Amino acid sequence: MPADIYVSRIAPHFWEEPVISGKNGTAAVFFTGCTLDCIYCQNSEISQQNQGHKTTAEEIARKLDKLICSGCETVSFITPTHYIYAVQEVIRLLKPTVPVVFNTSGYERAEVLRGLEGYVDIYLPDFKYADNRLAQEYSGVGDYFEVADKAIAEMVRQTGKPEYNGSVLKSGTVVRNLVLPNHTKNSIAVIEHLSEKYGDEIIFSLMGQYIPHGKATAHPKLNRKITKREYQKVLTAFENSRLDGFCQELSSADEKYIPNWDF
Ligand code: SF4
Repeated sequence: MPADIYVSRIAPHFWEEPVISGKNGTAAVFFTGCTLDCIYCQNSEISQQNQGHKTTAEEIARKLDKLICSGCETVSFITPTHYIYAVQEVIRLLKPTVPVVFNTSGYERAEVLRGLEGYVDIYLPDFKYADNRLAQEYSGVGDYFEVADKAIAEMVRQTGKPEYNGSVLKSGTVVRNLVLPNHTKNSIAVIEHLSEKYGDEIIFSLMGQYIPHGKATAHPKLNRKITKREYQKVLTAFENSRLDGFCQELSSADEKYIPNWDF
């Protein structure tokens, strides 16, 4: 992405974890571009084809302020890492009265994240792969595990254990894993690693919403939704772990949950 800020959507968003969306939604900014290049990306129009609208930190702050005034319970910066300076500037202008969420792929350097200390209350990273061969094949990076592991350690260092304000999260780190078809072992390895390293220091969010999209529709292993059996296998590993958190219902694997990228 260029230095100018490109955004694909700014709107209330209701489909994050309940502790982030609350009842009235999170005021969400979907940035254009991404740190990864996943072949199954459900948002490839904005993450890879870069469909977006040129804007400014001032305009983003003004729109977020309106959304907070209308009742949004958190602010979410989504795929924001390559626009970290813009995020800092928006937060300085906005002076948000609700928790700030930084929602990422997990693939960013810990030293970049250190620049967000004091700006972000809640980190919402993916931990996509324990197996770097899958990371290379599906997302184009061969060092995902080590990079994401260090990034998440930095996030947890900054936020500490989850703290709540009523039913909405005030601070903490929520780590997501999307179960891919034919790759339950990878998700189980992620769960086991996080359980051993963090236990109840983080919230874990298991996602069953995978639907083949873009290049994945032609991939022999990724061209279908996950089965109930696959999901149950990973769910059992989650239930047997020291992690607490959320799991999606399989009915969330539906294109209707992909937002419109109309700014
Ligand atoms: S990290 Fe998420 S948004 Fe980025 S390319 Fe991968 S699936 Fe898409």
